[in-house]
Amino acid sequence: ALPVVAIVGRPNVGKSALVNRILGRREAVVEDTPGVTRDRVTYKAEWMDRRFTVVDTGGWEPDAKGIDRSVAAQAEVAIDLCDVVLFVVDARVGATSTDEHVVKLLRKSGKPVFLVANKIDDARQEPEAAALWNLGLGEPYPVSAIHGRGVADLLDAIMEKL
Ligand code: GDP
Ligand code: MG
Repeated sequence: ALPVVAIVGRPNVGKSALVNRILGRREAVVEDTPGVTRDRVTYKAEWMDRRFTVVDTGGWEPDAKGIDRSVAAQAEVAIDLCDVVLFVVDARVGATSTDEHVVKLLRKSGKPVFLVANKIDDARQEPEAAALWNLGLGEPYPVSAIHGRGVADLLDAIMEKL
C-alpha cells in the first residue's frame, strides 16, 4: 500500500487548496464556506517519482458538541490511518484554541507532523508563520496553497519521512 499523508486543520484554513496544489490539479473542493469537504476524501499523488495517498479531511462543521469536538474527532481518525500528518494553520489568523486542541492529539499520536503555515502569499507575511513556533510542533513551513509558494520545499521535506 502507498504511504498515506493526511491533511488536518480547522475549517477554512486551506486544506483543500493545499491538496489541489499537491495533486497539481483541481479536485478537492475549495470553498469560502467552512466545512464543505464531506468526511474524508482520498487522492493518489506523486512527487519526484514517489507515489503516495493524500487524505483531505473536512466536514468539520460544528455538531451538537461544538467545533472542538468535531474537529478533534475528524483529526483523530485521520491521524490514526496516516503515516504523516500535515497540520494546516491559517497563519494570518494565528493559532486558535481549536488548533491547540488538535496539537495535543498530534503529540499523543507520535506520528511525524508537518506544521503548515498557510496563506503566506508574500515574503512580508513570513513573521506570521514564524509566530507558530509557539505551538511546539517544530518548524512552521510557510506556504501559499493558492499561489504555490513554499509547497515544493514542504513536499521535499515530507518525502524524507515517507
Ligand atoms: P478548507 O476548509 O481547509 O479545505 O479550506 P479551503 O481550501 O476550502 O480554503 C478556504 C478559503 O481560504 C478559500 O476562500 C480559499 O481561497 C482560501 N485560501 C486557501 N489557501 C489560501 C492561500 O494560500 N492564500 C490565500 N490568500 N487564501 C487561501
Ligand atoms: Mg476543504
